[in-house]
Amino acid sequence: MKSERIGIIGGGLGGLASACVLAARGYDVVLFEKSPWLGGKAAELREAGFRFDMGPTILTIPGVLRKIFEEAGRRLEDYLDLVKLDPQWRCFFTDNSVLDLVENVDAMSRRLDEYAPGSAAGYRDFQALSNKLHTISDKYFFWKSIGSIMDMMDMKASFSPSLLADVMRMRPGRSVSSTVRKYVPDSRVAQMLDHFTQYVGSSPEASPAVLCGIAHMQTAEGIWYPMGGTRAVPEALVKLATELGIEFHAGVGIHKIITNPVGDTVVGVMTDSGEQIDLGAIVSNSDTVRTHRELINGAAPRAVKKFANRRGYEPACSGVVLYLGLKKRYEHLLHHDFVFSHNPEEEFDAIYRKGEPAQDPTCYLCAPASTEPGVAPPGGEALYVLVHTPFLRPHHDWSKMFPEYRRVILDKLKTTGQMPDIEERIVFESKLTPQDIHDRYRVLNGAIYGLASHGKWLGAFKPSNRSPDLKGLYFAGGSAHPGPGMPMVLMSGWIAADCLDQDEAVSKSCEVSITA
Ligand SMILES: Cc1cc2nc3c(=O)[nH]c(=O)nc-3n(C[C@H](O)[C@H](O)[C@H](O)COP(=O)(O)OP(=O)(O)OC[C@H]3O[C@@H](n4cnc5c(N)ncnc54)[C@H](O)[C@@H]3O)c2cc1C
Repeated sequence: MKSERIGIIGGGLGGLASACVLAARGYDVVLFEKSPWLGGKAAELREAGFRFDMGPTILTIPGVLRKIFEEAGRRLEDYLDLVKLDPQWRCFFTDNSVLDLVENVDAMSRRLDEYAPGSAAGYRDFQALSNKLHTISDKYFFWKSIGSIMDMMDMKASFSPSLLADVMRMRPGRSVSSTVRKYVPDSRVAQMLDHFTQYVGSSPEASPAVLCGIAHMQTAEGIWYPMGGTRAVPEALVKLATELGIEFHAGVGIHKIITNPVGDTVVGVMTDSGEQIDLGAIVSNSDTVRTHRELINGAAPRAVKKFANRRGYEPACSGVVLYLGLKKRYEHLLHHDFVFSHNPEEEFDAIYRKGEPAQDPTCYLCAPASTEPGVAPPGGEALYVLVHTPFLRPHHDWSKMFPEYRRVILDKLKTTGQMPDIEERIVFESKLTPQDIHDRYRVLNGAIYGLASHGKWLGAFKPSNRSPDLKGLYFAGGSAHPGPGMPMVLMSGWIAADCLDQDEAVSKSCEVSITA
């Protein structure tokens, strides 16, 4: 008899979101996670009196998370204490100037009038464009399973002058960096605006202009800090999932997806220890490329071949993270800071084209003690430093590369970051290299953010959430539509669950009626 259980492979934010939505809609859900913790990259490090978020630290578009809790008739506020951060980022440039990005567009324009005369009007116009691109993304791209331009627009049903106008507004064939510079001539302000593409681990020169919409997503809903750290997000989802009766198997890796004999429908999984489990449908929160190459291959070679031939799959960037426990916090830092490189073209060329770490990198800093003093012993700081690096190449040996690159990063913090005595303040130190990211999270070539968004025409498209090649298989996570970053992977989890529900891939175990 066909199983009516749904199996989720991976307990990252995408997998947890899918599990919650499916359980809220009355399905019987079991989740397998190879690591002993749930939440995937949203992990934490607690040592020597310090608490660090190990992965994501910037939370935007909380509305996506709210929607997942509302599926179960719950209020996000009852599970998470979210604090708004405004100014959003402090930016340090190599000319020793400092610029704060504030949420309100008019207030930011007034700041720019003083900081870079002549940039204010351009910034307002850029935000207006970004608003339009955000609206277009909402209309055609978000909350549904999309894998190509044909999925995005039902050409026959909706071909109209307004559709054509929307397509033209997306500035097809133009990059983020050229669009930013059309509006904002000041090189420092342009470098700041370019950096929204770092949320998706991609080069602003190679990414399509539609990604300029990310700037408005951040001004429209703000940047938030969950008290307890970003780690509080997966913890809240696990709490909801437990209330909804989801069965968790942490520490259980999935070795294989099992299909029917003709290889067109999924019927179960085999765990790393060889146990076979019958399932009616599967949501894979594992990387989409590795799901095909490693979990399906052999069982359904035709499906794997079709997936492989559909497009190129370039990993997004990787990164080095330093977790620095400081005995004394820096008062000149905000919660989120960017210490910028001198030459962004050179930096992005190294990371995204040459495949080598940038010698003058941009460092992202998270200094949460001002918002939540408990992250460090009194007066101290749990300083998190992230530098984007290329995805892993065969010649990258981070056990040898790390000591020298650590020095490059600390030198950058001492100079542009205005922290000359940082080494004297460090009392605890840990790290994450691209190889660690690769091994801990089973990603593609150490990629932090799934697949790169490269390609000025079609770079925004990722594998769709409903497999077109195998019945009963769905994808949630940073390497599936709509892409990486916390809000997008949470949305991908919702879409995968919604597709499965619409397809009636399995029967519900109970009927639910939710009253919010
Ligand atoms: C250093 C760093 C900084 C970041 N900063 C930000 C930020 O500030 N803001 C932001 O929005 N995003 C940020 N991100 C990106 C964000 O963390 C990710 O996009 C998101 O958490 C990915 O969620 P996911 O569900 O796709 O995958 P993951 O978190 O990778 O979860 C997938 C899970 O699947 C498990 N798995 C894989 N294969 C198997 C298998 N075969 N069997 C069982 N389990 C399996 C893995 O162990 C993992 O736990 C950052 C990421 C990193 C690493």
